Parts: sequence; structure tokens; C-alpha cells
Amino acid sequence: SIGKISLDQIDPLSAKSFPLCTRQLHRALRESHHLRHGGRMQYGLFLKGIGLTLDQALQFWRSEFVKGKVDADKFDKAYAYSIRHMFGKEGKRTDYTPYSCMKVILSNPPSQGDHHGCPFRHSDPELLKQKLQSYKVSSGGVSQILELVKGMHYQLACQKYFELTHNVEDSVFSLNHPNQYFIESQKLLG
Ligand code: SF4
Repeated sequence: SIGKISLDQIDPLSAKSFPLCTRQLHRALRESHHLRHGGRMQYGLFLKGIGLTLDQALQFWRSEFVKGKVDADKFDKAYAYSIRHMFGKEGKRTDYTPYSCMKVILSNPPSQGDHHGCPFRHSDPELLKQKLQSYKVSSGGVSQILELVKGMHYQLACQKYFELTHNVEDSVFSLNHPNQYFIESQKLLG
């Protein structure tokens, strides 16, 4: 965690320091005002990992969901529980930890309408290419990343994306966790 985060920092942080997986989740949430269970778990735990408190998490998810089809009452009945659960405040009171890259890559692949997963593993390569271009990755960089994806080196592809977007030649870490990506990014850009 980088210490206290305010909710209005999440938009700029998502563009600057989130890996593609949670950047995609954040964008889908802002656009559709909803995420399905897999996305809420992956993104909710990531946000907990970057330092959101339970109260902030409830406020964050509620304010977004009520812009969509869910009113505050329904949110409190149907969704608040699972957020408190994530923070270990319900059920068995397990303090859940954010998912690692391996977990995201290997379990629970996204279906139609889902936004969770790892874009390097689960996106159609042509869509991934367009996304990388829209995020201003050079054509040489895009080719390098797609080559790694083709070889099924998804975390190396993500690390290459990190290097290209943070102007570092060789990163000194070996990527294995979306929250680690965030921390390393904040060290350079924070
Ligand atoms: Fe996220 Fe890890 Fe995939 Fe990168 S490699 S997009 S951090 S799951």
C-alpha cells in the first residue's frame, strides 16, 4: 500500500499506475456502472490492496452502482455484504488477499460480458493490439508484446508493457502480482 488514497485519485491512478487487468475493470465499472461477481472480486481486492478502507470501498462501489440499475437500498441488500466479506467483516472473517497474476491467468476465465481476467491471456490478440496502440505504445513495442503473448509469456508481456510505459530499460522486479505492478509504478511515477 502507498498509504492513504482518496477516491478521486482512482481515475488518474488507473491510467497511470494500474496494470491492464485492473485498468480494464475500472473502465468497465465507470462505463457500465456494474461489474459481475468475478470482476468485483478481482478489482475489489486489488483496491483493498492499494489501500482503500472498507468505508471507502463501500462508498466507491455504491456511488458507481447507483448510477446504473441498482438503487442504494438494493446495493445495501445485495452487494454491501460481499464487500464487507472481502474485508473479512462477514462470514468466516477471512481476510482475503488480492489475486496474484497466476491466479488471474489460470483460474475463472472471463465469459461474454465479464471484464475480469488478464488481458494478455484472455483478450483477443487483435483487440489487445488496438488497446496497446490506443495507450500510445510504439509499433515496435506492440510487436514485442504480442510476440511474448504468442509464446504464452503473459507476465513477461505485462512487464514489457510496464517498461515501455514507464521508460525503464530493464525493470528490477519480476512481475507476479497486479498490486506489485502498482507499487513499482508508484515508485517511479508517484
Ligand atoms: Fe494483471 Fe498480472 Fe495480467 Fe499484468 S500479467 S495484466 S498484472 S494479471
